[in-house]
Amino acid sequence: MTPKERAFRFLKKVSKPARYTGGELNQILKDKSKMNARFAFCFPDTYEIGMSNLGIKILYDCLNAEEDIWCERAYAPWPDMGDLLKEKDIPLYAHESGDALSDFDFLGFTLQYEMSYTNVLYVLSLAKIPLLSSERTNDHPIVIGGGPCSYNPEPVADFFDVFSIGEGEEGLVEAVRCYIDYKKTHDKFDRAEFLREVSHVKGCYVPSLYNVEYSESGEISKVEPKYPDVPSVVEKRCIKDFDGARFPEKAPVPFTETVHDRIMLECARGCMRGCRFCQAGIIYRPYRAKSPETLNRQAYSLFKSSGYEEISLTSLSISDYPCLMELVDSLKEWTDNEKIGISLPSMRIDSFEAKIMEKVQGVRKSGLTFAPEAGTQRLRDVINKNLTTEEILDGCRNAFSTGRTNVKLYFMLGLPTETDDDVAGIANLGQQIVNVYYENPNRPKGKSIEVTISVACLVPKAHTPFQWFGQNSLDELTRKQIHLKDCITTRKIRYNWHEAKVSRIEAVFARGDRRLSKALIEANKLGMKFDAWDEYFSYDLWMKAFENANIDPSFYAERNIGFDEILPWDHIECGVNKKFLIDEAKKALKEVTTPDCLTKCSACGAAKFGASLCLKRDINPKTAKEG
Ligand code: SF4
Repeated sequence: MTPKERAFRFLKKVSKPARYTGGELNQILKDKSKMNARFAFCFPDTYEIGMSNLGIKILYDCLNAEEDIWCERAYAPWPDMGDLLKEKDIPLYAHESGDALSDFDFLGFTLQYEMSYTNVLYVLSLAKIPLLSSERTNDHPIVIGGGPCSYNPEPVADFFDVFSIGEGEEGLVEAVRCYIDYKKTHDKFDRAEFLREVSHVKGCYVPSLYNVEYSESGEISKVEPKYPDVPSVVEKRCIKDFDGARFPEKAPVPFTETVHDRIMLECARGCMRGCRFCQAGIIYRPYRAKSPETLNRQAYSLFKSSGYEEISLTSLSISDYPCLMELVDSLKEWTDNEKIGISLPSMRIDSFEAKIMEKVQGVRKSGLTFAPEAGTQRLRDVINKNLTTEEILDGCRNAFSTGRTNVKLYFMLGLPTETDDDVAGIANLGQQIVNVYYENPNRPKGKSIEVTISVACLVPKAHTPFQWFGQNSLDELTRKQIHLKDCITTRKIRYNWHEAKVSRIEAVFARGDRRLSKALIEANKLGMKFDAWDEYFSYDLWMKAFENANIDPSFYAERNIGFDEILPWDHIECGVNKKFLIDEAKKALKEVTTPDCLTKCSACGAAKFGASLCLKRDINPKTAKEG
């Protein structure tokens, strides 16, 4: 009996049992006796969130496209199920076969946010796999990590055998291929020998093959490979022909409601804008787009194989997609008949087009979301948002002219050089938007405006110009949150703010190094998990974990780092060079902006990936391929 079959007997005792059954439409089943490698892919959070992640859908498809590789799915079980598995001594299992994760050749984790790190250890514990890479034997799966957080893998380095840095469509498959080739050419599997081998695959980082040294005052003094054949710098994988890249034509359709119950159509990767706090805008460079023909074909096959009623056109900034109107028109040739909705989640306010919004949203006038991020022009220049107050007000004016009565705006507190006037600027901008609504004589009669201001705390991330700037202290962030509250004087503005304590822990791990693995071990001992969920996050427990590990969290979260200091992630190459990031950090302090890539190339280093944007300022997927 497989662990899944054993667990089935108890599923009525847990909440949402459909999270644990597998058997979904389009799941992929293979004959395990014919496989050369079995890969269990874990999203370290609940099924509902994991099943909505596009990255895992793409890599599940890429791995299973290989005849002799079987990729299966796994998720972090909600605590009631986790406790039951422990009580019944049932190891955590994969959804397709129901086999224990410890039976697999690979156990993969996508690392999307730092607050999921305790869940990585929680899953390893439930799977009965040693937490530390150094304690695993030849019989244990190779634990491999990837995703945006792997651009600073150091805080979790001790728990992973290898990281696949960058785009996994090619890199991850090559890592597994390397494993298969190794097993075919060696009588006996030797874990250490294989890890040395896979470190030669471009984009693969094997932490155990590097020495890290620290200075007396605690900074990193050296990171170097233990052997000459191991790369001193690991460069990310980047797909050159994005339009031709593999993309799933079908994906498992969940039994229970998930966070994104719709088709996610990835129209472009990367962003040209260069906001200085944004990690995605740097690590996914250069900007590459797919052609409307490719997207239409992919959308139709995903629709036919899933029955979803909505298509979300995804990209970091969909309004920058060069063929947006053409794409929407070509989709509507069949979506209207099929009563399928189209949504555009990431519209920039300065390129809000009423015409397109009318087309995609028809009668349903859902609210609009924009991200000015900072309340004053000065601070928007510091973060290089390249957005004027007039453009913001115009965007809202356009939105209101389409009959909308609510708008949501994202801001951040704790930005470098921020003053109390900048904080007050958020409230002022909100008030200006309310005024714009009431200046509109054609506004819906008797309808009030609702402006929602949602305010996060800056978390300085690796590989961004802000990586050197320490996060505001908790007291300072809390003081600013209260100051903003006091500045909002109208009920037409709803004010939501993020828990600063969560952002603080996130900042510790975003700028952390290997010494933090001790804190994660302590957190695991304290039973910590699901830190991204309010009901499970405990700041006091984190302080206890840091104390037990003898770690000062402010050293990582708040410290300003010198430009000449070795960063924990310097040996991970994201394609954008350090000089560019330093120049951008210095320009921020001088409130000087940098134009977007389409306007002018700033020689960030990503041109080496050969994207047409960098080579000839052309982002049109139809002409990009021409030499
Ligand atoms: S090389 Fe130039 S165009 Fe290409 S991503 Fe960098 S700044 Fe933009």
